[in-house]
Amino acid sequence: MITMTGVNKWFGRFHVLKDIDLAVATGERIVICGPSGSGKSTLIRCINRLEEHDEGRIVIDGIELDEDTRNIAAIRREVGMVFQQFNLFPHLTVLENCVLAQRRARGTPRKEAEARAMHYLERVRIPEQADKYPARLSGGQQQRVAIARSLCMEPKVMLFDEPTSALDPEMIKEVLDVMIDLAGTGMTMIVVTHEMGFARKVADRMVFMDEGRIVEIAPPADFFAAPKSDRASLFLSRIL
Ligand code: ADP
Ligand code: MG
Repeated sequence: MITMTGVNKWFGRFHVLKDIDLAVATGERIVICGPSGSGKSTLIRCINRLEEHDEGRIVIDGIELDEDTRNIAAIRREVGMVFQQFNLFPHLTVLENCVLAQRRARGTPRKEAEARAMHYLERVRIPEQADKYPARLSGGQQQRVAIARSLCMEPKVMLFDEPTSALDPEMIKEVLDVMIDLAGTGMTMIVVTHEMGFARKVADRMVFMDEGRIVEIAPPADFFAAPKSDRASLFLSRIL
């Protein structure tokens, strides 16, 4: 579904992604972890072109991510993303947040867009909040709306960038539970998170990054039991 080969990126002189090779199969769940500043966000932002890579190739579902704006648009239709900050539109109700992109990007008729919105709001277990404005919701509920909104576009891949980092502890589980459900549907997922309980449950492979490189890729059982690199052991000893 996703192939990154020899991907390099610089911010000015700063070499932020170094020789990234990563292939993600359809239905696979990847969890990316690593110290702050190691390039995790930049890596996943390159997958939907929120950031541009300078060298190497990124191919998603057979479409190469290059200068061709038609390709970029096609990939954005297939790749959903959920951020640490929920980025909901504050002036729109929960339902309208879920309807807007469908109408704008797809021209979906209103009735159909609303029905799909309600379907995914049920999936994230908050259909009863549909007519409220985001500010009325808890952080956990807002993040679940953000997930529903992404799912309304029926993406083939979902990217999550520290989706629970901005949440109070008691709300983390409700968001992770929704993500576990989503994993159960066979969605291809790349999740940047330090929630290692989630990673053990859901990840097919762990990717550990440090200083712009992928240092280690391993199944969670191996990664947690015996990380191969000193940097990964040190990282795990700090967060577990
Ligand atoms: P992580 O998500 O692993 O914490 P990031 O991908 O956000 O790391 O950032 C990696 C490095 O790139 C950091 O040192 C960060 O300061 C730098 N960086 C991120 N975005 C930009 C930007 N737009 N311009 C310059 N430097 C950036
Ligand atoms: Mg980040």
